[in-house]
Amino acid sequence: SFSTLQALMEETRRPFAHPDRHCRDELAKDLPSALQRREFFNVYQPKVALTNGAIAGVEALVRWRHPRCGILSPDHFITLAEQQGHIDALTRLVMENALHDSRLWLEKSQPFSVSVNVSMLSLMSPNFMNGMCALVLERGFSPSDFIFEVTEGRVLEDTRAPLEITARIKMAGFGLSMDDFGTGYSNMNRLRDYPFDELKLDRSFVTGITSSPATLKMCHASIALAQACGIRVVAEGIESRDEFQILKQMGCDYAQGYFICRPMTAEAMKLWLSAHWFGFAP
Ligand code: C2E
Ligand code: MG
Ligand code: MG
Ligand code: MG
Repeated sequence: SFSTLQALMEETRRPFAHPDRHCRDELAKDLPSALQRREFFNVYQPKVALTNGAIAGVEALVRWRHPRCGILSPDHFITLAEQQGHIDALTRLVMENALHDSRLWLEKSQPFSVSVNVSMLSLMSPNFMNGMCALVLERGFSPSDFIFEVTEGRVLEDTRAPLEITARIKMAGFGLSMDDFGTGYSNMNRLRDYPFDELKLDRSFVTGITSSPATLKMCHASIALAQACGIRVVAEGIESRDEFQILKQMGCDYAQGYFICRPMTAEAMKLWLSAHWFGFAP
């Protein structure tokens, strides 16, 4: 089935649709019914341990299969969903799809988690969190099988007791990850005070690591700082062997990026996982 994997991986290289103006205008109108028709699906990107290449889990990334515009990137509809008040419904659908797809890789015996990107808006609603918890338990999973990724900027900007909100997530048993670290208002106190399990170094840092000594030092310092707080560090957007090796030498915990694997459909991810049963070796 190597050729099947090759074919599926080729498919993942197909670029997103570039909706024209007419199409973009339609998206706002189409979103509510698209949710009902479940036009959204997840692709998955693995996260590997830098020490030994073990596959630690996958991140779910949502796509919209729009009947006329084609496959749309979340950049075209997440903000829209937030503005329209549909973000909770969308995230719930992403979680339902993740629970369904997870059956494909249940047989994995090592600890394995599925990361889901969650808008700070959703996390602030207690109903949303209770619903997520119920959904996960109902499907026979445990909240500890999942990690919620929240963008740093939004965590810190919000004034409504983010500490309480994040604590509630931890109490329910979900993992908590600070996404895109370095792009928002980095306040080191937050790392110490908030119950984050994981920090994701933004791709803009990883990209600069081979060319900018200052960026390299900032990565190093961020990793040391997070680890001093007991927080694991994921480098996102690794595109080259050099970046992979440098981050490994720095003691970064996990890596994610095109160099390891592009985001792909659940079926393709199942094949990729079985081809990397003993881990990823560059
Ligand atoms: P993110 O959570 O930081 O996800 C990483 C993004 O970087 C993904 O883009 C992924 O495809 C891309 N990426 C991964 N590795 C590489 C690499 O090596 N090079 C490059 N150039 N890019 C790489 P994607 O899927 O377009 O998602 C963009 C953003 O949309 C995500 O950033 C996340 O903030 C948001 N998003 C995605 N799915 C969801 C969702 O279900 N709910 C919410 N609320 N937001 C989502
Ligand atoms: Mg993310
Ligand atoms: Mg990220
Ligand atoms: Mg990012």
